[in-house]
Amino acid sequence: MQEHEVSAPPLAQQFAIVEDYYGPRIAWVFGNQNQGGVCPYRRAGLCHHCDIGDGEGREFTTPMNRNRLRWFMEHDRKLLPQLAHLVVYNSGSVLNPRELSPEVLLDICDQTDAMPDLRVLSLDTRESYLNKDRLSQLVNRLPKQVCVRPILGLESADDEIRDGRLEKRMPRSAICRGLDAVADAALQASSGDIGLDANVLIGGPGVAADRAAMDAVDTARWLLYQCGQRSLSLDLNLHPYYPSRRGLARFPSHPRCSWQHVQQSVRMIVDLEEFRNSRPGLFIGWQDE
Ligand code: SF4
Repeated sequence: MQEHEVSAPPLAQQFAIVEDYYGPRIAWVFGNQNQGGVCPYRRAGLCHHCDIGDGEGREFTTPMNRNRLRWFMEHDRKLLPQLAHLVVYNSGSVLNPRELSPEVLLDICDQTDAMPDLRVLSLDTRESYLNKDRLSQLVNRLPKQVCVRPILGLESADDEIRDGRLEKRMPRSAICRGLDAVADAALQASSGDIGLDANVLIGGPGVAADRAAMDAVDTARWLLYQCGQRSLSLDLNLHPYYPSRRGLARFPSHPRCSWQHVQQSVRMIVDLEEFRNSRPGLFIGWQDE
């Protein structure tokens, strides 16, 4: 494919519109501009449950991602006027300038003019790229009513699971530094708003079946506490574990999370005092986002 050709995402990453806490939601997947088109953590052999970091088998450039943006604008043009929540992925960290050029991100912000009902722009990223100035720049580029929410793939607040079994290399100190940066940006925001989305994995590798719900609840509680301390608005994305290609190779006998554990987790999370006090959005994503 020529660099300047309009490029559609792979079929498996063309997500349908769904309804969430804010209204109609869609996810757009861009290409990764890091070496080989692969997430740097994936390149380093980390994050063992994730296939997404493998990218699309080619290194993207700024023009290629601009073409991808044109493709989405054309493909979803009938949906744009009703869209409330836009989620942006790039097989890695959207806020890492080496993985997605800042120009493309600003172009995405500018295209939200075609989305009059948009309330939330969520950006998938690692904790190390949570930067106050970067977030402030984005929120200032967006219409007033749009909230910028980085998505942090925490998965589990249990260090043994997150950094041990899954090898995410996401130490607690770095997460807290990232949360501080988002909270600082939120404090400074002159227009719009800034919050945080966080991913919680239910029943992932390293979690015994009888601990599946409890680990998710502990993780949600930790996030609610940390964001509460920083007066930071939090939404939770619950992801019941499914064996990805890499997950299957690394943890061949670890089963998919059962529906019963999903129900149990949701029931216990919405019953948390911290949840009832702050009433965050709650989204349950299967492998189809
Ligand atoms: S979980 Fe995120 S950081 Fe880790 S490999 Fe996947 S895309 Fe990269």
